[in-house]
Amino acid sequence: MSDISRRSFLGAIALAGATRYRAAAQAGGTRLVLLGTGGGPRPRKASSGSAQVIVSNGVAYVIDCGDGVARQLAFAGVPLATLRHVFITHHHSDHNADYGNLLLLAWTAGLSTRVDTWGPPPLERMTKLFFQMSASDIEARIANEGRVPLAPLVHVHELRAGGAVVSDGNMKVTSAIVHHPPLVPAFAYRFDARDRSIAISGDTSPSQNLVKLAAGADVLVHSVMYPAAIDRLVARVPNAAALKASILAHQTSAEDAGRVAQEAGVKTLVLSHFVPPDDPDVTDAMWLEAAKRYFRGVVILGRDLLEV
Ligand SMILES: [Zn+2]
Repeated sequence: MSDISRRSFLGAIALAGATRYRAAAQAGGTRLVLLGTGGGPRPRKASSGSAQVIVSNGVAYVIDCGDGVARQLAFAGVPLATLRHVFITHHHSDHNADYGNLLLLAWTAGLSTRVDTWGPPPLERMTKLFFQMSASDIEARIANEGRVPLAPLVHVHELRAGGAVVSDGNMKVTSAIVHHPPLVPAFAYRFDARDRSIAISGDTSPSQNLVKLAAGADVLVHSVMYPAAIDRLVARVPNAAALKASILAHQTSAEDAGRVAQEAGVKTLVLSHFVPPDDPDVTDAMWLEAAKRYFRGVVILGRDLLEV
């Protein structure tokens, strides 16, 4: 696709996203929008960094903050001022690079209410340092534009163990520790709204904790890799001699994601966080075929701005 047709394609997706948002907001159902579905931090044309949003009763719960998360929310038609909770699965940059930016840019877009953020240490320190780094902009906007101070809006919670995270009457959120060394702890999250349950794997090798967390959920969003393509991926990334071993040990193949989904008994498996994210030799059909090998429910191939 040329850059021009790609842009109009993205514009059409954004328009469709905004229309769907209005329709679903009127219907009142809990929505899941995949904001970024590529695995790995390298910026790409084809997909943004890892991020999802769940919107329930007008409240936005963002899970992971990869590159571009704030702009993807704008494309999805989710008002940034409705941001209420941010959950970080682990501190790899493809999941947290825009964590601070999301808070700052949502504030510039009108956010003036409390936001709770949740994730492994050192989330507290990261938040504090980000506000220090951005102090000149924040202070200028408070002084010149009459905005409420940003830092007091943000309440940080560091998670060290799996279990109950937060329950706000609208959504019950639970976490489980998954296996993604050396990032310890790394979390998967489950969101139970009145009408839907959604589990998000974060990055992990095949995880029994995730099977338990996702048990019986309507939707499981699982990160996936295609092992046969990892050599080609590694060849394109200089300066990362141990990348192949790291990927193979700490990620889940699409086939194993199907096994996890089957064992958890979920209705729908959504493939996301594709590793590699942009290898033309791994076709949509290949991802789907691998995931369906052991899973008898519905498999959806994740795409940026796809609403599930
Ligand atoms: Zn990771």
